[in-house]
Amino acid sequence: MPKTRDVLSHVAVSTAKGRRRCFRNPAHIIKAGDQVLTIKIGPDNSKHSYCSKCAQKILVTVTNRLHDITETLDQSFASLLSTGEMVSKDYEQRDVWTRGNL
Ligand SMILES: [Zn+2]
Repeated sequence: MPKTRDVLSHVAVSTAKGRRRCFRNPAHIIKAGDQVLTIKIGPDNSKHSYCSKCAQKILVTVTNRLHDITETLDQSFASLLSTGEMVSKDYEQRDVWTRGNL
């Protein structure tokens, strides 16, 4: 079975080593020891850190987007099943994919 690509490899949670400002709202101060959401962005993989308050908003948006994508795929998949274009083996594989990755 092919390896599943980690599409969130540029996203992580880490502990701030020093004081810094939140990238989303510079008025938010991140203190050493705070948990931060770190996202590597751009061709140079520059790290942007977000405070927990902003991280929560970002993650809610991302979660909703993933939910929408999953629903769209489910509808496409159901459509294929109803037309008989997929066989049961495909269904089992897709079921494993969904349970293992979301
Ligand atoms: Zn913030």
